[in-house]
Amino acid sequence: MRIDLHTHSTASDGTDTPEQVVAVAARAGVDVLALTDHDTTQGWAPALAALPDHMTLVRGTEFSTKWFREDDSRISVHLLGYLFDPEDAALGSERDRVRDSRINRGREIVGRMVEGGLPITWERVETLAAGGSIGRPHIARALVEAGVVPDVSSAFTDLLSTESPYYVQEADMDVVEAVRLVRGAGGLPVLAHGQARRRGDIIGDDAIRTLAAAGLVGLEIDHPDHTEEDRAHLRELAAELDLVGLGSSDYHGTNKPTPIAACTTSDDAYQRLVDRPTAIRPVRGDEV
Ligand code: AMP
Ligand code: ZN
Ligand code: FE
Ligand code: FE
Repeated sequence: MRIDLHTHSTASDGTDTPEQVVAVAARAGVDVLALTDHDTTQGWAPALAALPDHMTLVRGTEFSTKWFREDDSRISVHLLGYLFDPEDAALGSERDRVRDSRINRGREIVGRMVEGGLPITWERVETLAAGGSIGRPHIARALVEAGVVPDVSSAFTDLLSTESPYYVQEADMDVVEAVRLVRGAGGLPVLAHGQARRRGDIIGDDAIRTLAAAGLVGLEIDHPDHTEEDRAHLRELAAELDLVGLGSSDYHGTNKPTPIAACTTSDDAYQRLVDRPTAIRPVRGDEV
């Protein structure tokens, strides 16, 4: 089976609608697809409605969280949550707080850029986001349109990097708390791209051990941003902590060069994951 458990649509910062993500996955021969937009479940219903008979949809979200260091400085951590109850009040209120904070944070980044003389507007960024969770890729596209940078990736090397004077952090949801909340909502928390250094500081092995103790069930191992050494290291950690090892593309449409199913999850790992009880279940198109 071809299994891709991490993709984005226009419900957050991907460029394909949820229906288009499903269609692109079908064309690539994907059997099991997870839609995991940032801090929202908005794309679930349209993806489900577009599901072909033979394809299974795993409904998920990629939560924006933080690991807090002893000195109160923080490291951004992306936590995938699969098959949780979307109506869970505790998880829902934290998620909405973080998603709504993305609006003010995006506005603040754009405000700093306008002040710095860059020819973009908040209105244009909001239009590009089209009602989805606002992220830096939407600002990147406004910068491309305005001719400031040639493409989205170039916007991230400098202007939108975490070191940039324009950079503003999004709201904080403690990752340890997030793991507990996803479990509490009957879902499966998995650490996304845990070794992707090009995105900024990464959490150490001890932090991952703490997350495992809090209820983490898996680690994303095969990911386009991970080197061979990163993957080998994560494989060892997964074995030590009895965590499921996943592989995924983190597809974003044309906002990133990675094609869908560029990395995949083994049948075995997928079975281990979904053998656990969850609030909602993977759904096949012919069951919708
Ligand atoms: P944000 O959630 O607003 O902080 O933006 C983070 C998102 O930007 C990630 O989920 C990726 O989709 C995207 N991103 C991060 N780094 C890069 C990069 N170097 N090139 C293109 N997209 C990136
Ligand atoms: Zn993204
Ligand atoms: Fe991510
Ligand atoms: Fe992602």
